[in-house]
Amino acid sequence: MNTLLLSPRDVAQIVRAQGVAGALRRLSDAIEADFRRWHAFDKSARVASHSRDGVIELMPIADATRYSFKYVNGHPANTRAGLPTVMAFGVLADVATGAPLLLSELTLTTALRTAATSALAARVMARPGCRTMALIGNGAQAEFQALAFHHLLGVREIRLFDIDPAATAKLQRNLRHMSGLALTPCASAADAAREADIVTTATADKTRATIVTPDMLAPGAHVNAVGGDCPGKTELHPDVLRQAHVVVEYEPQTRLEGDIQQLPPSFAVTELWQVLAGAAPGRRDDRRWTVFDSVGFALEDFAALRWLHASALELGLGTPTHLVPTQRDPKDLFGLLAPAASASAVPPAAPARDTTAGARALGAVA
Ligand code: NAD
Repeated sequence: MNTLLLSPRDVAQIVRAQGVAGALRRLSDAIEADFRRWHAFDKSARVASHSRDGVIELMPIADATRYSFKYVNGHPANTRAGLPTVMAFGVLADVATGAPLLLSELTLTTALRTAATSALAARVMARPGCRTMALIGNGAQAEFQALAFHHLLGVREIRLFDIDPAATAKLQRNLRHMSGLALTPCASAADAAREADIVTTATADKTRATIVTPDMLAPGAHVNAVGGDCPGKTELHPDVLRQAHVVVEYEPQTRLEGDIQQLPPSFAVTELWQVLAGAAPGRRDDRRWTVFDSVGFALEDFAALRWLHASALELGLGTPTHLVPTQRDPKDLFGLLAPAASASAVPPAAPARDTTAGARALGAVA
């Protein structure tokens, strides 16, 4: 059987075909739809393997018809060695048979789905009419966050800060053609956060950092805390959390990995699905801060992989690949070792490039 392989170039082509705003909107809708059917999923906290400089994680999840997992790392020192902090790929499989349908890059996709989830959470947590956002940490995730908040929430001014001025300059360069979005570099995180309706933190440092303190936040501000996503890796002063209404993705995972790891287990939080389903408020009043303590949950990658699969089939993108054997007799695995010419079990060679017909033969995911 064939598994469809999607490279970063394929995913970039999908995004170009749909437009960044269109892709973020589709992703946000898909993620919201899946959060709203929370109880349909077999969920678990991700499995993490920690080392001195980073972490490698596996993120599995399934509903009745599809299973997915993501492999992802987090190595904040990587950029000094010319590698991204975060790299990822993932698989979408058929629950009925276990057959892998899709093997895809997820580095670019992680940035898209994280930004789409951040904007989705802000839509139900931030005060209506937010126009200004501070963006602290201007690395790989930053442009995606900026664009999601601009396109999906109507943010018009983004106040930028990074300890590395070259990262801020890169962001300004990448988004210089965006009309209706003002980008203002700032001298410090406090300067960026001053009077901002929303404060997004996307910094990478394997430490208990304090990027945002209570004195930096305007009354009623919404904090979108993206970078604190690992034990011993945080961004918010605990008093910001203590005074805020805090929403998380999946509580068992966020207790270990999110900024709330700094607080006792009795500290009350709300899960995002409850807010989206109307079972809990995203915000209680105009003056209290709200915090989306984002760590990234497998459900978001599940939704993203289904979006990628459907989009690739629609656009005829990707390469059908033999990840698992094609056998005339499924019990004759040994036959794969026979010389190609005489073996009944050897699969036909995979085509070098995808054809739309070939990709369609893999079956669309609704
Ligand atoms: P990156 O290394 O490309 O960028 C991080 C940026 O933060 C760098 O430019 C760095 O100079 C800056 N920075 C570090 N310390 C800072 C400080 N004290 N003040 C201001 N800026 C500071 O990393 P990335 O891919 O953009 O990821 C950012 C963070 O988001 C990482 O910690 C990553 O693990 C996390 N992340 C979370 C999710 C999620 O779902 N929540 C998803 C993806 C990435």
